[in-house]
Amino acid sequence: MDSTRLRVKPAKTRFLVWLLFSLFAIPQLAAQSAAPVTLVRAARLLDPRTGNVLAPAAVLIEDGKIKQVGAQISAPSGATIVDLGSATLLPGLIDSHTHLLLSVVIPPEEERRRHLNAFFAPADLLAIVESPTKRAFQGAQNAREYLESGITTVRVLGHSGIDGDTELRDAINAGRVPGPRILAAGRKLITRGDYLQNLNPALADAILNQEFLFIDGADRARAAVRQNVFQNVDVIKVTASENMTVAELKAAIEEAHRQHLKVAVHAAEKAAIQTAIDAGADSIEHGNEATDEQLKQMRDKGIFLDLTPTAYGGFFLKIMEPSVVLSPESRSARTESSARRDKEYDQLVKQVLKSGAKFAAGTDMCWWYPGKTCGEASVLTLLNLRKAGMSALEVIRAITVTAAEMLGWQDKVGAIEAGRFADIIAVSGDPVSDITELERVRFVMKDGKIVRNDLMTRVLANP
Ligand SMILES: [Zn+2]
Repeated sequence: MDSTRLRVKPAKTRFLVWLLFSLFAIPQLAAQSAAPVTLVRAARLLDPRTGNVLAPAAVLIEDGKIKQVGAQISAPSGATIVDLGSATLLPGLIDSHTHLLLSVVIPPEEERRRHLNAFFAPADLLAIVESPTKRAFQGAQNAREYLESGITTVRVLGHSGIDGDTELRDAINAGRVPGPRILAAGRKLITRGDYLQNLNPALADAILNQEFLFIDGADRARAAVRQNVFQNVDVIKVTASENMTVAELKAAIEEAHRQHLKVAVHAAEKAAIQTAIDAGADSIEHGNEATDEQLKQMRDKGIFLDLTPTAYGGFFLKIMEPSVVLSPESRSARTESSARRDKEYDQLVKQVLKSGAKFAAGTDMCWWYPGKTCGEASVLTLLNLRKAGMSALEVIRAITVTAAEMLGWQDKVGAIEAGRFADIIAVSGDPVSDITELERVRFVMKDGKIVRNDLMTRVLANP
């Protein structure tokens, strides 16, 4: 309302305006400011930390946060009651390692052979050079599909352009597009020589600077962290390779910690894993070649392992076959190598469980998966850990409560507990006896708001 115009009005009019405002606006404001209250009821609630099941279960939610959890809670007056019948409640799932702004379509082998770039390069390059706007829309689609599949928190660890992930996070937080909570890493810190090579020298820097920050030398490592801080990132991602020194990585980690940010270090090979451990990483991403000794060091230093069972179970054959023609030799070679890698992964999972090192899990998506949404494919990927030898409860823990701890959000997400965000999912059956229940998430709530509800439920307002 324009107060300057009010001042010139006669006293009687001012009184009338005041009266109207008092009669209508103030009660309305009061009604709007009252926090929405919801009571969710279901037959069961799984606590991933203990494996205990609360039955029956009720969760009282006020203003998007969990206020109380119990077997019986009476609904406060004015509360919306959501009765999910015989369903099981769980905390919303967490994907600790994803790339929402990337949709990799694996090219035919002939095409790959013609390029000098590494295997990953064609799709990655396309995303960089094609259109940041197109990429942003792809990210928005992937984000929605993630949320609809029950993944309510993700850590986006690079390949988002300069600000794609931070902007997507902000758009979701502002309610402009649906999606999970995002911890954004901004640009990935790497040393020159990794990933993309043999680019046109006249254009190489312009292309690479959109996707990476180079940290050749400790000073540049610190500067790169500060550049990401300028973009308001939530976490720093570094790719450790043979080229990276402990001093460079340490400098990046020290600067990140000074800025109160955690550092996720991509390290798959043994030497890179050791560099990450020695430099004091907060989490090691992938960790495929971790030895018993390294896992022990990680346990002692409190470094999380973020397992990414992406390739497990012939994943790449599954996503390639509908569109890529493979020769019989090529198919059998891929089948063999896939089976060998699965065995290696089973072994890794065994070692990790034995070591006592803390672990979470990520998908390393998004690969284009025919017939599935990005969210559905991601849930399938996380559940590969069950096939690799983990118990269902260990898998669920890795993608809820332990993931939250790794992200530094242990007071925000990962459990249905008072004080945390009301990010809750429900499945029809028992996910501990059959983990594939998580492929069929029936109900998703984020921030106390229902995103999806396929259950025959009663939603009623308590007078
Ligand atoms: Zn990744």
